[in-house]
Amino acid sequence: MPNRKRPAPIHPDLESIMFTEAEIKERVRTLGTELRNTYGAGEFTMISIINGAVMFTADLMREIDNPVRLDCVRISSYGDRTMSDGAPQIVSSLTIDIADRHVLVIDDILDTGRTLTLITGLIRKLKPASLRVCVLLDKEERRQVPFKADFVGFRIPNKFVVGYGLDFAERYRNLPCIGVLKTQIQGTLEWA
Ligand code: 5GP
Ligand code: MG
Repeated sequence: MPNRKRPAPIHPDLESIMFTEAEIKERVRTLGTELRNTYGAGEFTMISIINGAVMFTADLMREIDNPVRLDCVRISSYGDRTMSDGAPQIVSSLTIDIADRHVLVIDDILDTGRTLTLITGLIRKLKPASLRVCVLLDKEERRQVPFKADFVGFRIPNKFVVGYGLDFAERYRNLPCIGVLKTQIQGTLEWA
């Protein structure tokens, strides 16, 4: 038997794979280098927007050896829909002090820009020494409020994606790749 590794079969609910596990790993590694180029060896505080950014945050943290502090902020989600429908709300806020600290906010995907506008506005009021934003994905054409992230993993077209932390109705977060969800799945919630 030849010992050639076959590609993992595509999940039946995905229309296509946008980024494989290996492609994500490689990009997260280079993002780690970009962070090191910006922060040097200094300490910074990562604020992860959960649940979506859980995997990205966990992997990114392990690509750097700076002293880092971690906190999480939970935002109200899309629920079972695939379109953002208005003002996001903070459900659970910061628990550590960030005054005079270098802060890096981490999110899975920058879409309309509302979530990160809200979060960065609140953080700014707490007077951090610096504030930067890192997102794995950026759907620039969906922007409703102007917002630019300092670090972007991949710029993507306007498709609803799942996997690597990103969900649809709390499913698919555990897929190791990022893929486009079939439109017929977006219209059914039988399994929810
Ligand atoms: P924004 O406030 O920028 O519209 O939305 C950002 C949040 O919307 C992300 O953190 C993510 O939770 C959700 N979101 C936006 N686009 C997608 C997508 O294509 N797939 C998934 N699963 N979530 C998305
Ligand atoms: Mg999110």
